[in-house]
Amino acid sequence: MNPIYGKAVFLVLPVGWYIIRWEHARRARRTPVARSARGRREMALLTISFVGVILLPLLYIAGDFPRFAAYPFHLLQAVLGTFVALGALLLFHRTHEVLGRNWSVSLDVRENHRLVTEGVYRHVRHPMYTAFWLWALAQALLLPNWVAGLSGLLGFGTLYFFRVRREEQLMIETFGEEYRAYMARTWRIIPWVC
Ligand code: SAH
Repeated sequence: MNPIYGKAVFLVLPVGWYIIRWEHARRARRTPVARSARGRREMALLTISFVGVILLPLLYIAGDFPRFAAYPFHLLQAVLGTFVALGALLLFHRTHEVLGRNWSVSLDVRENHRLVTEGVYRHVRHPMYTAFWLWALAQALLLPNWVAGLSGLLGFGTLYFFRVRREEQLMIETFGEEYRAYMARTWRIIPWVC
């Protein structure tokens, strides 16, 4: 066994993600935006996340870049990563189904935006971000390279920590007490934990 196993499984993540998101991204382009908190800062965060969860892993998969950061492959670690990756994709699929036309790649409020509080949104407010944390964790387990493996946690983590409060603020401005009450009875990404 060599790192090719982890590399192959990792590739399922961006491919699955693209397939799941494709239809929703198409619909999103047709759904008018009522207000938005996009800007340079959001663009920078999206770019940092993209570099961490897609670009650096792809460079590693294509050319073992950067070589100095490689460490020995462990099958058990990669098998665990496989399960985490599958969990990420399943959750990603469910969140898109439930969030429907209210989804956006950035911080937008659509016309006739509805506050979603059911399904995977019942106990946590950001299950799609939970799915991305799982992706980043799977990446760390699947790619035996300190840079390409950990860049997902760092890249997505930066997006998450700089975005989540602003997103909740946007939701409060849009839905007021309804969102505050939702916040009071839910967790951010892991039920009963945080
Ligand atoms: N943070 C959520 C959604 C990510 S998509 C998650 O992790 O599952 C980002 C968009 O979703 C934002 O533009 C915001 O307008 C919208 N959004 C976030 N929470 C929402 C909710 N509970 N109901 C409806 N839209 C929501």
